[in-house]
Amino acid sequence: MPRTLDPELRRALVERIRFYNELGIYDFYRWEPSGSVSSGKHAAKIEVEKDQRELGEQMTPRKATAIAMPIAVEENIFEVVAAKPEQGVSDPATALKIIREDLGDCTRCVLHKQGRKQIVFGVGNPKAELMFVGEGPGADEDQQGEPFVGRAGQLLNNMIKAMGITREQVYIANIVKCRPPGNRTPEREECDTCSPFLMRQIAAIKPKVVVALGAVAAKTLLAMSASMVQLRGRFYDFKPTGVRDPNWDGCKLAVTYHPAFLLRDPRQKGEAWKDLQMVMRELGLKAPTKPDA
Ligand code: SF4
Repeated sequence: MPRTLDPELRRALVERIRFYNELGIYDFYRWEPSGSVSSGKHAAKIEVEKDQRELGEQMTPRKATAIAMPIAVEENIFEVVAAKPEQGVSDPATALKIIREDLGDCTRCVLHKQGRKQIVFGVGNPKAELMFVGEGPGADEDQQGEPFVGRAGQLLNNMIKAMGITREQVYIANIVKCRPPGNRTPEREECDTCSPFLMRQIAAIKPKVVVALGAVAAKTLLAMSASMVQLRGRFYDFKPTGVRDPNWDGCKLAVTYHPAFLLRDPRQKGEAWKDLQMVMRELGLKAPTKPDA
Protein backbone atom coordinates (compact mmCIF):
# COMPACT_ATOMS: atom_id res chain seq x y z
CA MET A 1 0.00 0.00 0.00
CA PRO A 2 1.67 3.26 -1.06
CA ARG A 3 2.21 5.79 1.67
CA THR A 4 3.80 9.17 2.20
CA LEU A 5 7.43 9.20 3.26
CA ASP A 6 8.59 10.54 6.57
CA PRO A 7 10.14 13.98 5.65
CA GLU A 8 13.44 13.15 7.35
CA LEU A 9 13.71 9.84 5.51
CA ARG A 10 12.73 11.49 2.24
CA ARG A 11 15.51 14.06 2.64
CA ALA A 12 18.02 11.28 3.37
CA LEU A 13 16.92 9.32 0.28
CA VAL A 14 17.03 12.39 -1.98
CA GLU A 15 20.56 13.17 -0.77
CA ARG A 16 21.60 9.58 -1.33
CA ILE A 17 20.16 9.53 -4.88
CA ARG A 18 21.86 12.86 -5.70
CA PHE A 19 25.12 11.38 -4.45
CA TYR A 20 24.68 8.39 -6.80
CA ASN A 21 23.81 10.77 -9.67
CA GLU A 22 27.09 12.58 -9.13
CA LEU A 23 28.81 9.23 -9.57
CA GLY A 24 26.98 8.83 -12.88
CA ILE A 25 24.41 6.37 -11.50
CA TYR A 26 20.83 7.06 -12.49
CA ASP A 27 18.96 3.78 -12.41
CA PHE A 28 17.39 2.25 -9.33
CA TYR A 29 15.09 -0.66 -8.72
CA ARG A 30 12.34 -0.45 -6.17
CA TRP A 31 11.49 -3.50 -4.14
CA GLU A 32 8.35 -4.13 -2.15
CA PRO A 33 9.32 -5.72 1.18
CA SER A 34 7.86 -9.12 2.01
CA GLY A 35 6.35 -9.96 5.38
CA SER A 36 9.62 -11.40 6.65
CA VAL A 37 11.49 -8.17 6.04
CA SER A 38 11.04 -5.23 8.35
CA SER A 39 9.19 -2.50 6.47
CA GLY A 40 9.09 1.27 6.23
CA LYS A 41 11.59 3.67 7.73
CA HIS A 42 13.62 1.02 9.55
CA ALA A 43 14.05 -1.16 6.46
CA ALA A 44 15.02 1.84 4.33
CA LYS A 45 17.62 2.86 6.90
CA ILE A 46 19.11 -0.63 6.85
CA GLU A 47 19.40 -0.47 3.06
CA VAL A 48 21.02 2.99 3.10
CA GLU A 49 23.54 1.79 5.70
CA LYS A 50 24.22 -1.30 3.58
CA ASP A 51 24.80 0.92 0.54
CA GLN A 52 27.30 2.96 2.52
CA ARG A 53 29.19 -0.18 3.52
CA GLU A 54 29.24 -1.37 -0.08
CA LEU A 55 30.38 2.04 -1.26
CA GLY A 56 33.29 1.77 1.14
CA GLU A 57 34.14 -1.44 -0.67
CA GLN A 58 34.41 0.34 -4.03
CA MET A 59 30.88 -0.12 -5.29
CA THR A 60 30.61 -0.07 -9.06
CA PRO A 61 27.71 1.45 -11.02
CA ARG A 62 26.46 -2.01 -11.99
CA LYS A 63 26.30 -2.99 -8.33
CA ALA A 64 24.69 0.31 -7.55
CA THR A 65 21.96 -0.09 -10.13
CA ALA A 66 20.97 -3.35 -8.47
CA ILE A 67 20.35 -1.71 -5.10
CA ALA A 68 16.88 -2.51 -3.89
CA MET A 69 14.92 0.33 -2.33
CA PRO A 70 12.44 -1.37 0.02
CA ILE A 71 9.84 1.32 0.16
CA ALA A 72 6.63 2.18 -1.62
CA VAL A 73 5.71 5.84 -1.76
CA GLU A 74 2.98 8.00 -3.27
CA GLU A 75 5.53 10.33 -4.85
CA ASN A 76 8.12 8.89 -7.22
CA ILE A 77 11.25 10.56 -5.92
CA PHE A 78 13.41 8.20 -7.96
CA GLU A 79 12.11 9.45 -11.28
CA VAL A 80 12.17 13.09 -10.19
CA VAL A 81 15.67 13.03 -8.74
CA ALA A 82 17.31 10.38 -10.90
CA ALA A 83 16.32 11.62 -14.37
CA LYS A 84 19.42 11.86 -16.58
CA PRO A 85 20.15 15.50 -17.39
CA GLU A 86 20.01 14.92 -21.16
CA GLN A 87 16.66 13.10 -20.91
CA GLY A 88 14.08 14.74 -23.16
CA VAL A 89 16.73 16.58 -25.21
CA SER A 90 16.04 15.66 -28.84
CA ASP A 91 19.12 17.21 -30.44
CA PRO A 92 21.97 14.63 -30.16
CA ALA A 93 24.73 17.29 -30.25
CA THR A 94 23.14 19.11 -27.30
CA ALA A 95 22.59 15.82 -25.43
CA LEU A 96 26.27 14.91 -25.92
CA LYS A 97 27.30 18.32 -24.62
CA ILE A 98 25.19 17.80 -21.51
CA ILE A 99 26.71 14.34 -20.94
CA ARG A 100 30.22 15.82 -21.32
CA GLU A 101 29.38 18.50 -18.78
CA ASP A 102 27.97 15.87 -16.42
CA LEU A 103 31.21 13.87 -16.74
CA GLY A 104 33.16 16.98 -15.75
CA ASP A 105 36.78 16.66 -14.67
CA CYS A 106 36.03 13.07 -13.74
CA THR A 107 37.71 11.37 -10.78
CA ARG A 108 35.27 8.46 -10.53
CA CYS A 109 37.87 5.72 -11.09
CA VAL A 110 41.59 5.34 -10.40
CA LEU A 111 42.53 6.18 -14.00
CA HIS A 112 42.14 9.87 -13.20
CA LYS A 113 45.30 9.75 -11.08
CA GLN A 114 47.43 7.46 -13.18
CA GLY A 115 48.96 9.96 -15.55
CA ARG A 116 46.13 10.94 -17.89
CA LYS A 117 46.65 14.24 -19.67
CA GLN A 118 43.00 14.67 -20.50
CA ILE A 119 39.66 12.92 -20.80
CA VAL A 120 39.02 11.53 -24.28
CA PHE A 121 35.25 11.81 -24.59
CA GLY A 122 34.50 10.81 -28.18
CA VAL A 123 34.45 12.36 -31.62
CA GLY A 124 32.37 12.42 -34.75
CA ASN A 125 28.90 12.94 -36.12
CA PRO A 126 26.29 13.25 -33.32
CA LYS A 127 23.72 11.85 -35.78
CA ALA A 128 25.91 8.98 -36.97
CA GLU A 129 24.29 5.77 -38.17
CA LEU A 130 27.48 3.89 -37.36
CA MET A 131 29.47 4.05 -34.14
CA PHE A 132 32.79 2.43 -33.28
CA VAL A 133 33.70 1.67 -29.69
CA GLY A 134 37.26 0.81 -28.70
CA GLU A 135 38.92 -0.01 -25.41
CA GLY A 136 40.61 3.16 -24.15
CA PRO A 137 42.91 6.01 -25.20
CA GLY A 138 46.58 5.37 -25.92
CA ALA A 139 49.45 7.86 -25.73
CA ASP A 140 48.52 9.74 -28.93
CA GLU A 141 44.85 9.92 -27.99
CA ASP A 142 45.73 11.12 -24.48
CA GLN A 143 47.93 13.80 -26.04
CA GLN A 144 45.40 14.99 -28.62
CA GLY A 145 42.15 14.38 -26.71
CA GLU A 146 40.64 12.38 -29.57
CA PRO A 147 40.08 8.61 -29.88
CA PHE A 148 41.92 6.57 -32.51
CA VAL A 149 44.46 9.09 -33.78
CA GLY A 150 47.63 6.96 -33.58
CA ARG A 151 48.67 4.05 -35.80
CA ALA A 152 45.60 2.04 -34.83
CA GLY A 153 43.52 5.11 -35.63
CA GLN A 154 45.08 5.32 -39.08
CA LEU A 155 44.10 1.71 -39.71
CA LEU A 156 40.57 2.39 -38.42
CA ASN A 157 40.37 5.34 -40.84
CA ASN A 158 41.34 2.99 -43.67
CA MET A 159 38.72 0.47 -42.57
CA ILE A 160 36.06 3.21 -42.53
CA LYS A 161 37.18 4.44 -45.97
CA ALA A 162 37.00 0.91 -47.33
CA MET A 163 33.35 0.85 -46.24
CA GLY A 164 32.69 3.80 -48.56
CA ILE A 165 32.25 6.39 -45.83
CA THR A 166 34.44 8.91 -43.98
CA ARG A 167 35.58 9.26 -40.38
CA GLU A 168 33.49 12.43 -40.10
CA GLN A 169 30.31 10.46 -40.82
CA VAL A 170 30.71 8.06 -37.89
CA TYR A 171 31.09 8.51 -34.13
CA ILE A 172 34.08 7.02 -32.31
CA ALA A 173 34.47 6.48 -28.57
CA ASN A 174 36.03 4.14 -26.04
CA ILE A 175 34.88 2.12 -23.04
CA VAL A 176 37.17 4.12 -20.72
CA LYS A 177 37.90 7.77 -21.35
CA CYS A 178 41.26 8.03 -19.61
CA ARG A 179 44.50 6.41 -20.70
CA PRO A 180 45.39 3.31 -18.66
CA PRO A 181 49.08 3.59 -17.67
CA GLY A 182 51.46 1.81 -20.06
CA ASN A 183 48.47 1.06 -22.30
CA ARG A 184 47.44 -1.78 -20.02
CA THR A 185 44.00 -3.31 -20.44
CA PRO A 186 41.44 -1.40 -18.36
CA GLU A 187 40.27 -3.24 -15.26
CA ARG A 188 36.68 -4.43 -15.00
CA GLU A 189 36.06 -1.91 -12.22
CA GLU A 190 37.27 0.95 -14.46
CA CYS A 191 35.13 -0.23 -17.38
CA ASP A 192 32.05 -0.54 -15.16
CA THR A 193 32.61 2.92 -13.71
CA CYS A 194 33.18 4.71 -17.01
CA SER A 195 30.88 2.84 -19.40
CA PRO A 196 27.57 4.36 -18.13
CA PHE A 197 28.67 7.59 -19.81
CA LEU A 198 29.34 5.74 -23.05
CA MET A 199 25.91 4.10 -22.77
CA ARG A 200 24.39 7.57 -22.51
CA GLN A 201 26.40 8.74 -25.54
CA ILE A 202 25.08 5.80 -27.56
CA ALA A 203 21.53 6.56 -26.41
CA ALA A 204 21.95 10.21 -27.42
CA ILE A 205 23.28 9.36 -30.89
CA LYS A 206 20.95 6.40 -31.53
CA PRO A 207 23.08 4.79 -34.24
CA LYS A 208 21.76 1.95 -36.39
CA VAL A 209 24.87 -0.12 -35.74
CA VAL A 210 27.56 -0.14 -33.05
CA VAL A 211 30.81 -1.95 -33.84
CA ALA A 212 32.70 -3.12 -30.77
CA LEU A 213 36.42 -3.12 -31.50
CA GLY A 214 38.09 -5.89 -29.52
CA ALA A 215 37.20 -8.09 -26.58
CA VAL A 216 37.09 -5.40 -23.87
CA ALA A 217 34.55 -3.32 -25.80
CA ALA A 218 32.48 -6.36 -26.76
CA LYS A 219 32.38 -7.88 -23.29
CA THR A 220 31.57 -4.57 -21.60
CA LEU A 221 28.81 -3.58 -24.02
CA LEU A 222 27.24 -7.03 -24.16
CA ALA A 223 27.92 -7.82 -20.47
CA MET A 224 29.02 -11.31 -21.44
CA SER A 225 32.25 -13.20 -21.42
CA ALA A 226 33.26 -15.17 -24.49
CA SER A 227 36.18 -15.45 -26.90
CA MET A 228 36.43 -13.19 -29.94
CA VAL A 229 35.83 -16.23 -32.14
CA GLN A 230 32.53 -16.81 -30.36
CA LEU A 231 31.55 -13.13 -30.28
CA ARG A 232 32.23 -12.27 -33.94
CA GLY A 233 30.23 -13.08 -37.06
CA ARG A 234 26.71 -12.13 -35.96
CA PHE A 235 24.58 -9.19 -34.90
CA TYR A 236 23.31 -8.67 -31.38
CA ASP A 237 20.22 -6.65 -30.50
CA PHE A 238 21.61 -3.91 -28.33
CA LYS A 239 20.11 -1.32 -26.06
CA PRO A 240 22.48 0.64 -23.82
CA THR A 241 22.28 -0.43 -20.19
CA GLY A 242 20.20 1.91 -18.06
CA VAL A 243 18.48 3.63 -20.98
CA ARG A 244 14.71 3.92 -21.05
CA ASP A 245 13.62 5.63 -24.25
CA PRO A 246 10.15 4.76 -25.53
CA ASN A 247 11.07 6.30 -28.90
CA TRP A 248 14.06 4.07 -29.54
CA ASP A 249 14.16 0.27 -29.76
CA GLY A 250 17.94 0.08 -29.69
CA CYS A 251 20.29 -0.94 -32.48
CA LYS A 252 22.43 -3.74 -33.84
CA LEU A 253 25.84 -4.49 -32.42
CA ALA A 254 28.65 -6.31 -34.22
CA VAL A 255 32.05 -7.35 -32.89
CA THR A 256 35.35 -7.23 -34.73
CA TYR A 257 39.04 -7.12 -33.97
CA HIS A 258 40.64 -4.00 -32.50
CA PRO A 259 42.83 -2.22 -35.09
CA ALA A 260 45.79 -2.43 -32.67
CA PHE A 261 45.42 -6.22 -32.74
CA LEU A 262 45.27 -6.16 -36.55
CA LEU A 263 48.53 -4.20 -36.60
CA ARG A 264 50.12 -6.98 -34.54
CA ASP A 265 48.52 -9.77 -36.58
CA PRO A 266 47.72 -8.50 -40.11
CA ARG A 267 46.61 -11.99 -41.15
CA GLN A 268 43.31 -11.30 -39.34
CA LYS A 269 42.48 -8.29 -41.56
CA GLY A 270 40.48 -10.51 -43.90
CA GLU A 271 38.32 -11.66 -40.97
CA ALA A 272 37.80 -8.07 -39.84
CA TRP A 273 36.79 -7.13 -43.38
CA LYS A 274 34.13 -9.88 -43.31
CA ASP A 275 32.72 -8.31 -40.13
CA LEU A 276 32.65 -4.88 -41.73
CA GLN A 277 30.97 -6.25 -44.86
CA MET A 278 28.22 -7.64 -42.64
CA VAL A 279 27.80 -4.14 -41.16
CA MET A 280 27.79 -2.58 -44.64
CA ARG A 281 24.98 -4.89 -45.75
CA GLU A 282 22.96 -3.84 -42.71
CA LEU A 283 23.51 -0.15 -43.49
CA GLY A 284 23.10 -0.52 -47.26
CA LEU A 285 26.69 0.63 -47.94
CA LYS A 286 28.74 -0.30 -50.97
CA ALA A 287 32.53 -0.48 -50.92
CA PRO A 288 34.15 1.82 -53.52
CA THR A 289 37.44 -0.07 -53.55
CA LYS A 290 39.08 -3.00 -51.88
CA PRO A 291 40.26 -2.33 -48.33
CA ASP A 292 43.84 -1.13 -47.87
CA ALA A 293 46.21 -3.91 -47.02
S1 SF4 B 1 38.20 6.51 -17.05
FE1 SF4 B 1 36.13 7.35 -17.02
S2 SF4 B 1 35.39 7.00 -14.94
FE2 SF4 B 1 37.62 6.80 -14.89
S3 SF4 B 1 38.36 8.85 -14.35
FE3 SF4 B 1 38.36 8.71 -16.60
S4 SF4 B 1 36.39 9.55 -17.26
FE4 SF4 B 1 36.24 9.09 -15.05
